[in-house]
Amino acid sequence: MLELRPCCELCGRDLPAAAGEARICSFECTFCADCAERVLSNVCPNCGGGLWPRPVRPRAKLEQYPPSRQRKVKPLDPDQHAALLARYRDVPPAER
Ligand SMILES: [Zn+2]
Ligand SMILES: [Zn+2]
Repeated sequence: MLELRPCCELCGRDLPAAAGEARICSFECTFCADCAERVLSNVCPNCGGGLWPRPVRPRAKLEQYPPSRQRKVKPLDPDQHAALLARYRDVPPAER
């Protein structure tokens, strides 16, 4: 089950479970759409995988399956991200 992390891991902006602007990688690193598109070029700075819109969990399910409350925010390491970005672009789309 998705953790539904509560905020963008780059700028710290709140991303409630219903937020349509949350982006996640396959390891659930979570970012807002602004950071994902403008800063990260939709490549996760932690694992180098792609960032995609996070599915919304319906309100009725949130009481039984609440989102995570653990906030993880980390500044971007531009050099590391540039290396990941270069590698990501090398991978043919079919293997992403
Ligand atoms: Zn952000
Ligand atoms: Zn990641």
